[in-house]
Amino acid sequence: MSDRGILIVLSGPSGAGKGTICAALRKEMPNLVYSVSMTTRAPRVGEEEGISYFFRSKEEFQQLIEDDAFLEYAKVYDNYYGTPKQHVMNLLSEGKSVILEIDIQGAMQVKERFSEAVFIYIVPPSLDILSNRLRDRGTDATDVINKRLSKASSELALAHRYDYIVVNDELDEAVEKVASILRAETCRIKRNKEKIQYIYNQYRNNEV
Ligand code: 5GP
Repeated sequence: MSDRGILIVLSGPSGAGKGTICAALRKEMPNLVYSVSMTTRAPRVGEEEGISYFFRSKEEFQQLIEDDAFLEYAKVYDNYYGTPKQHVMNLLSEGKSVILEIDIQGAMQVKERFSEAVFIYIVPPSLDILSNRLRDRGTDATDVINKRLSKASSELALAHRYDYIVVNDELDEAVEKVASILRAETCRIKRNKEKIQYIYNQYRNNEV
């Protein structure tokens, strides 16, 4: 007896704190599986193959697109990013919930294919705060930061296509909000049909 796991899509501008929220969430909810994306961008300092991303060449990525190996993929800031499909599908069938930390283009592709997924948009409290966070992070050049800021403002207009929006002002609070959303989603009737049937059968067997 196992209902399918929940596919959770977390998006938001770079610097909104998605990565930090995800990491804290995985500590709080150890059964949640984080889907490691594939990318053609170069690793940043401290990033590890297979943990941060699977780092691949453009040619390898193109081949995987042709092989239909991605659940979704998108070109973000001149690089490709994608979610390896088979692994995620297997986990969901096993009843495990999977979290994707992906951009808005990818999220919209997932929305077309998996309407039952849960879409959460993380926003910083303001564009100024986002700008400061990106500069403090020190991982990107000024022109990259400017690109990220302009993308953040245009994307915000599409946030209404998500199911939930969480403002990341206080990290602990934002993590708690996302965790609460996930807890509530696991209790939805539509996600517990097999469990309900199982309990119902037990009641019925006890009656006779
Ligand atoms: P970064 O280069 O800062 O790690 O990520 C840049 C953007 O790509 C972020 O918005 C991140 O959420 C997004 N991203 C990471 N992995 C994927 C993925 O598998 N698919 C899509 N569509 N976007 C991704």
